[in-house]
Amino acid sequence: MTSGGESSVLRPTSAEEVAAALREVGAAGGSLGLRGSGCSYGDASLNTGGHLLDFGRMNRILSFDEERGEAVVEPGVTIRDLWRHSIGHGYWPTVVPGTMEVSCGGAAAMNIHGKNNFAVGTFGDSILEFTLATPSGETLSCSRERNPEVFHAAIGSFGMLGVFTEMRVKLKRVYSGRLKVTAVATRDLVANLDYLETHRGEADYLVGWLDLHARDSALGRGAIHRADQLAAGEDPEGERMLAAERQDVPPRLFYVVPKGWIWPGMWLFLQGGMWRLVNAAKFHAGVREAKRPPYLQSHGAFHFLLDYVPNWKKMTSPGGLIQFQPFVPQAAAERVYRTLIETCHRAGTVPYLGVLKRHRPDPFLMTHAVDGYSLAMDFAVSKNPAKRDALWALCQRMADVVLDAGGRFYYAKDAVLQASSFPRIHGAAAVAEFRRLKARLDPQAMLATDLSRRMGVV
Ligand SMILES: Cc1cc2nc3c(=O)[nH]c(=O)nc-3n(C[C@H](O)[C@H](O)[C@H](O)COP(=O)(O)OP(=O)(O)OC[C@H]3O[C@@H](n4cnc5c(N)ncnc54)[C@H](O)[C@@H]3O)c2cc1C
Repeated sequence: MTSGGESSVLRPTSAEEVAAALREVGAAGGSLGLRGSGCSYGDASLNTGGHLLDFGRMNRILSFDEERGEAVVEPGVTIRDLWRHSIGHGYWPTVVPGTMEVSCGGAAAMNIHGKNNFAVGTFGDSILEFTLATPSGETLSCSRERNPEVFHAAIGSFGMLGVFTEMRVKLKRVYSGRLKVTAVATRDLVANLDYLETHRGEADYLVGWLDLHARDSALGRGAIHRADQLAAGEDPEGERMLAAERQDVPPRLFYVVPKGWIWPGMWLFLQGGMWRLVNAAKFHAGVREAKRPPYLQSHGAFHFLLDYVPNWKKMTSPGGLIQFQPFVPQAAAERVYRTLIETCHRAGTVPYLGVLKRHRPDPFLMTHAVDGYSLAMDFAVSKNPAKRDALWALCQRMADVVLDAGGRFYYAKDAVLQASSFPRIHGAAAVAEFRRLKARLDPQAMLATDLSRRMGVV
């Protein structure tokens, strides 16, 4: 709701139609953006004034190998389609984001991560091979062995090097439709970072929620949720819970509140300036939850919290929201995150939500990963242009702190960075290699988005 633009949209149904679209737009000298489900927070899948390829109609699961847990999918297959198909066979996607609406093409192009990034890596790490249709007219079959440089560059290349028309992904074995979840209350930022550091060697999933309104000795307090897979036979209900309908998000919250009522309630709190109280209440609820023994929760409920709230983003209407997600190396994380939170407090602009994760490096050229953490900070955006500009300026100041500390950013979650940040995020050598491949695979620089123009990619 903060970025938008008009494009003429093409909806291919096959790889042949993708190739035809690339030829036609190329012959007309036009620009072409690629769009999966449109779940990126900024302008990554917008191409204002040009063409867009929307993969919503290329959504077939072409095969599923039950022995190996491998699926061959078209790019428009969503994470929801994938788990609904696989869970009855005892498989769950290795990497899932916070919403199941995301497409596999979009997941590969951004190289998305889940709450288990520290343990299993990114979505790209779970891709075995893919077919890439390029504006230069090639159809490249890529894997770690075949065309390895394109394999490692196209994953995470935010739709700039070609179109994923098909991919084979590896899923992971699950023996129960539920996870064992442990809640931990954390008194401050250090306690959060320490917990993630201490437990990343053994936990399957870790995610921290931070009350970014808390100050002084409570700065960075919050709650961590750890989830672990269950071994075969450990959960007596485990197999029954492998039914896809048992993973679905229920129609009512706490069996009572219709989900459609949730966002207006959240809107009232946010617009009424009561979000500090909501965060404090959530923290104290977390303290109570942490006193309970671990409990069992379906994979769907653990991973896709926001899918519980239809139209959740409307709670930030009319201005919308942005997410600022700095990735910071482990050694600098406490200092940098403390500085960022205090900077927000001084500016009087505090994110309404903070989410902390542990990451690990990956082998992809345009990676956003670090051996460290990310802190996703969600800001409601004002319709008032001066206030909006002030928020963008605040984010720019914070981005400098992050980049000076060797941090990175993630384009799926960005709306504010400028072209000067592009080489600082990736380093001159990676940018040069990326531009070399872009010139080879897309010599007319046809693939473009509002994001790529903002970041000065070519
Ligand atoms: C509620 C919510 C929670 C989220 N949680 C997480 C999270 O936990 N972890 C995380 O990593 N991300 C998360 N995200 C971000 C999301 O996973 C990424 O933005 C993802 O890329 C969105 O996929 P999409 O299908 O919507 O792609 P889009 O947003 O439509 O496009 C993303 C990029 O992929 C490119 N692209 C799309 N299809 C293709 C294709 N076939 N070939 C080549 N390029 C293509 C586009 O050009 C664009 O650059 C979240 C987003 C939301 C809304």
